[in-house]
Amino acid sequence: MPKSTPKTLIAGNWKMNGRRENLSEIKSVSEGVQATKQGPEVLVCPPAHLLGLAIDAEKDSQLHFGAQDCHAEEDGAYTGDISAEMLADLGAKYVILGHSERRQGHNETDSQVRAKVKAAVRAGLIPIICVGETAGEQTRGRTVARISRQLNGSLPEVLGEARFVIAYEPIWAIGTGLVPTPKQIADVHAMIRGRLSDRFGTNGETTQILYGGSVKPGNAAELLAIENVNGALVGGASLKATDFLGIIQSQVSEVA
Ligand code: PEP
Repeated sequence: MPKSTPKTLIAGNWKMNGRRENLSEIKSVSEGVQATKQGPEVLVCPPAHLLGLAIDAEKDSQLHFGAQDCHAEEDGAYTGDISAEMLADLGAKYVILGHSERRQGHNETDSQVRAKVKAAVRAGLIPIICVGETAGEQTRGRTVARISRQLNGSLPEVLGEARFVIAYEPIWAIGTGLVPTPKQIADVHAMIRGRLSDRFGTNGETTQILYGGSVKPGNAAELLAIENVNGALVGGASLKATDFLGIIQSQVSEVA
């Protein structure tokens, strides 16, 4: 059991979606969050071209902002890449790393993810490290083996007091409308919690472990009530303020 319950984090991953006109959705989320008391921490990770604009537009809001990837180096001849230091310079607080779409679509390995996690910590960003099994691995009972391997390979040996977040995202649940049973999620999150506590002590006991994969306003309350689920990483349902606010409001105890 964790010694203290981490604050709930609701994170939106816009992926490669959005134009400047869609910044109005972020404004609506910000206004909705402003109207709540004792709500969760809310994070929006828009695509890179909107990140600085969103941060500047919402500098007085309660929202936090993050990126969807970074390079492991600080500067250099890496055309098309962006460093963790550059994201910090924009005012980003978080960066999503090792999302399955990058692991699969860009052949990112655990060791590359680990190098990026180190870069994020070096730059003062909070990495959100994604892990999750394929449908085939789930069917063959290989979920624990796959996630253990990803945790071992993607997390640096030493993280000290640096804050980091883990997102458990079964690949077969992303964007499909499929969701594991509460027991499946509870088992995986308990396993992750155990590994983090063993490796990182108190830091691991209080690390937020998010669930991601087809989280919607209609299932958020149930999913977020599962033990060791300390928040959600939301894809599709983070694009529209009404949907994202529905998820956020499932975690609000009082309206201001
Ligand atoms: C994601 O891609 O991180 C995700 C969880 O997507 P969705 O919520 O659309 O399943």
